[in-house]
Amino acid sequence: MNRLLRLLLSLILPTIFVVASVFLYFWFDFSTFSQKLVLNFLPYGIFIISMILSLQFNRSRIFFILLTALLSLITIQYLFKDSTIDYSYTTMLYLLIGILFPLNLLIFSLLKERGFFTAWGLTRFIVIAGEFFYISSILVTPGHKALDFLYREYLWAPFPIKLFPQLVGLVLGISLILILTKMYFSPSYSDSSFIMGMVIATFILLLKQTNALLILFSTFGILLTISIIRDSYRMSYLDELTGLPGRRALKEDMMKLSGKYTVAMLDIDFFKKFNDKHGHDIGDEVLKMVASTLGDVTGGGKAFRYGGEEFTILFPGKASSDALPHLESLREEVANRTFTVRSKDRPRKKPTSGGKTTSAKKSTPTRRSTSSQKSSSPSKKLKVTISIGVAGRTKETKSPMEVMKNADKALYRAKKKGRNCVSK
Ligand code: GH3
Ligand code: MG
Ligand code: MG
Repeated sequence: MNRLLRLLLSLILPTIFVVASVFLYFWFDFSTFSQKLVLNFLPYGIFIISMILSLQFNRSRIFFILLTALLSLITIQYLFKDSTIDYSYTTMLYLLIGILFPLNLLIFSLLKERGFFTAWGLTRFIVIAGEFFYISSILVTPGHKALDFLYREYLWAPFPIKLFPQLVGLVLGISLILILTKMYFSPSYSDSSFIMGMVIATFILLLKQTNALLILFSTFGILLTISIIRDSYRMSYLDELTGLPGRRALKEDMMKLSGKYTVAMLDIDFFKKFNDKHGHDIGDEVLKMVASTLGDVTGGGKAFRYGGEEFTILFPGKASSDALPHLESLREEVANRTFTVRSKDRPRKKPTSGGKTTSAKKSTPTRRSTSSQKSSSPSKKLKVTISIGVAGRTKETKSPMEVMKNADKALYRAKKKGRNCVSK
């Protein structure tokens, strides 16, 4: 699917949530005591549940974002409530929701998962605590210098509309663009809720109302909770290397098969030799590209990574004679495709004189070590072929597992016939 379209689609559901909560803010006045009580506890409850989930599912990035949001909320609602120092609610929102919150969203979106109780995790706790001490120090110091930076005009604006300080606009705008760019290249549900975090921050700054803050932060907590669940679901069903559905998804889809269906088993030819010759890393790259070709299978087929360099394609509702032409064209497509692979790693050792890339052909080095020996060329043009075994459901075969076994036998025949062919 087109990347841009996929990006937009993944933003539809979170956008509906945010728009609905803005409507809720305008239409519902939360006037009774019990309504106020619920609203006051809602975001805290959601944040705590979501933090527990993120700990359970090991989503440290989401955990730290929730921690930032929780601390911001506590600061705004309670921390300086009875302070005698003259600071404005709006200034507090600008500092916490306009600067700190989007910057942390951006940072945690770009950082990798590194756990909670590790040196990395600890550093993150310390940085977040430091940020809050700094913001608090600004808020308790009348006329703090940082406020000059906050309210300064950095750019010449062609029109006099001032929704919020330029610095806030710049931080929000740049963070949003960077996360959108990241998401364009590697989509994830958590990033789509981080983007909604930016939108939510903008609404809070425009509305400048505690009720809006409470409602919109609750929505943000819900979006993060959904993304924890959806990302974990996706991770357990999709194969990490190829992005195709993996063994678990295959097992579940097999159980749904009934009536007419066809199973195909596919295996890359001589892939062990290929790895030995070109290195395991290049092998991985080619495996990914083969998988992406298989993922585009026509005729209603769905491709899975069975394991290693083996794949399965299910054709629900199709007889094997209907599936055959689609498999044949898939085989042809892989055989005709030239896989251009860029060598990522540089040689670990400088090549000695005479020990040029050709020497790698003679040796049969072990996995992984080989890529360092032949990465002197920036990119390689490589070819592989696949063999395919097909079996449809017949009167004799009772279960999808049996049909799969028959497909495996057919694959064995395809290999025996000389590979790069489809066998029934
Ligand atoms: P055949 O034509 O008979 O299938 O020969 P083959 O060498 O492909 O068969 P075999 O099953 O003996 O070897 C499969 C090889 O695939 C072994 C392993 O090096 C490679 N392989 C399996 N999984 C991966 C992977 O995830 N990445 C890479 N790079 N190689 C893999
Ligand atoms: Mg194999
Ligand atoms: Mg093979």
